[in-house]
Amino acid sequence: LEGPMLDLVDIGKRSLSAYRGIAPDEQLDEILHLAERLRGARCLHLNATPYGGGVSEILRSGVPLLNDLGLVAEWQIIRGDDAFFQITKRLHNALQGAPGGFSESDKATYLAHSQLNASHLSDDYDFITVHDPQPAALPMLRGRRGARWLWRCHIDTSHPNPEAWEFIRPFLPAYDAAIFTMAEFIPPHFPLSRVSIHPPAIDPLSPKNLPLPEDLARHVLEWTGVRLSRPLVTQISRFDPWKDPLGVIAAYRRVRAHVPELQLALVGSLALDDPEGWDIYREIRDATAGDNLIHIFTNLVGVGNIEVNAFQSLSNVVIQKSIREGFGLVVSEALWKGTPVVAGRAGGIPLQMPEGTGGLLVDGVEECAKAVLHLLQRPDEAHHLGERGREHVRQHFLVTRMLRDHLRLLDALAH
Ligand code: UDP
Repeated sequence: LEGPMLDLVDIGKRSLSAYRGIAPDEQLDEILHLAERLRGARCLHLNATPYGGGVSEILRSGVPLLNDLGLVAEWQIIRGDDAFFQITKRLHNALQGAPGGFSESDKATYLAHSQLNASHLSDDYDFITVHDPQPAALPMLRGRRGARWLWRCHIDTSHPNPEAWEFIRPFLPAYDAAIFTMAEFIPPHFPLSRVSIHPPAIDPLSPKNLPLPEDLARHVLEWTGVRLSRPLVTQISRFDPWKDPLGVIAAYRRVRAHVPELQLALVGSLALDDPEGWDIYREIRDATAGDNLIHIFTNLVGVGNIEVNAFQSLSNVVIQKSIREGFGLVVSEALWKGTPVVAGRAGGIPLQMPEGTGGLLVDGVEECAKAVLHLLQRPDEAHHLGERGREHVRQHFLVTRMLRDHLRLLDALAH
């Protein structure tokens, strides 16, 4: 690898005041109070990809808001070559419980890249938040250098493959605190005593979540090739085995036996740090070849935020049939648009859909098919579930709540 290792990500400008009237007032008030105490604090967020997946969504909304509040925040991505990201993707999967081991040469490759990235890090930060396992070794290799280091783990590490856990665990004592989405995700014998639980959240003012006028949303979807005269169910996910796209197709085919015109859209993004995505993409294409009611889209053919927004707004039901899931921002995104969701009972999804709110939780293909059919046949019930889901998201899963949690932790570490 040549050239600079860390890449600064361009971010937009946001204003917290724009969230007044959308997010709960008490969240906004507490944020302003905490920000006053943290004014001028220099914060770095580090992760592995500027697009594709939930972490980049969160940083794109959260980092500009930190700046608006008077902190000095930036977002950088670490660099790595193919070999590095192959290893980190396996590590990611294994931390979520997948089988497989790591050779001495894997470990050496991971550490060599981490060392290169660490050596390019400046010392000018008060807080450095490291997201997920890819950059996890940096504080150990770099030393703290006056900063407080936080490890933000977004994945379900409740039952890690022991080899993966042994790989990552020695890097963690260099941190001051860790953040997980749920207490259940904290792995056994976790080496840090300061652990906070902050679920992720969505940005109601991002292009993906802004209210789209219905005619515009319809226009956008018709443009993609979906026919709005027919019912539509959609899953929006990276192409990843844990998101079970083949299970979605199997469930959809069962429902179609009862609703012959039903369309399925699978919208997937391919991320920089996700070499596995292409293999899954090909598998999906093979499994659906010749079926003109199944539409497969990717970010690479121009299906981006506005299109995702339109899919989430206009689908009759959004599916998220995850088998393992850190949180599943897509669930809150769909609920925020009032769209009912059928989702796998996995990881952080049930937090977003407590009983009677948002839609139906399922285990397996058969249950998924039944739940989708149930909601398609009962539009009033589906509508009601979606509306309750929207209110639940407003209270618990908007970016303001996440920012408040983050600032509370920074404040506790600083004072
Ligand atoms: N996403 C997208 N386009 C796609 C697929 C996903 O914009 O084709 C976005 C999706 O809207 C969500 C994020 O990527 O904001 C995925 O986050 P989630 O927490 O659901 O899953 P992750 O990818 O982090 O496992």
